[in-house]
Amino acid sequence: MPEFILLEQKKAKTAIEILENKYKNVSYYLNFNGPMQLLVAAILSAQTKDTVVNDLTPELFRKYKTVEDFANADPQDLLNYVKKVSFAENKVKNIISCCKIINENYKGKIPNDMNSLLSLPGVGRKTANTILINAFGIVEGIPVDTWVIKLSYRIGLSKSKKPDEIENDLKEITDKKYWKNFAYVIKEHGHQICQSVKPKCEICPINNICPKNGVK
Ligand code: SF4
Repeated sequence: MPEFILLEQKKAKTAIEILENKYKNVSYYLNFNGPMQLLVAAILSAQTKDTVVNDLTPELFRKYKTVEDFANADPQDLLNYVKKVSFAENKVKNIISCCKIINENYKGKIPNDMNSLLSLPGVGRKTANTILINAFGIVEGIPVDTWVIKLSYRIGLSKSKKPDEIENDLKEITDKKYWKNFAYVIKEHGHQICQSVKPKCEICPINNICPKNGVK
């Protein structure tokens, strides 16, 4: 297996800037109205396509309108609304537990700090960062999803496969003004050009910088 090439910092910054400019109109991809809906949608979206989540949330949020509604939900009824997502039973458990905790400890309001969010079942740094950024406008980190893991390696931004380490590597080389959209920019690049099986390096705007780690 060829050796991993870490992009030197100046080139990494250039690559990120080029991608941020190319995809400057991207935005977060889950539909929601308010922090509670985002929390629920983000939990449902783990290892599930955004379109699947966006298809089912309108009906779900018509029935379940408040944190209290979710806290008191009948698991089987909730499951009927979300059964198309992967690991639906676990996610139902986590959503109900989360909302019980939020009801009891946070007066029914979704907390807006990292540590409190991380204490909720089913909420890791990716989801916590997503909620902070998109529901509260607080940019404390970079959500690291499967696209960010894959492309950070290819582009030589991080050698790690561990989301927390990747986030730290990215925060060191990425201008803070780009943190907010970083994951969505990378995902869009993955969809349009740097595709999983056969990346289109020949038309990629960072072709002359990218070390193409792991690309055959
Ligand atoms: S498409 Fe090729 S050149 Fe562009 S980021 Fe992906 S691996 Fe690098």
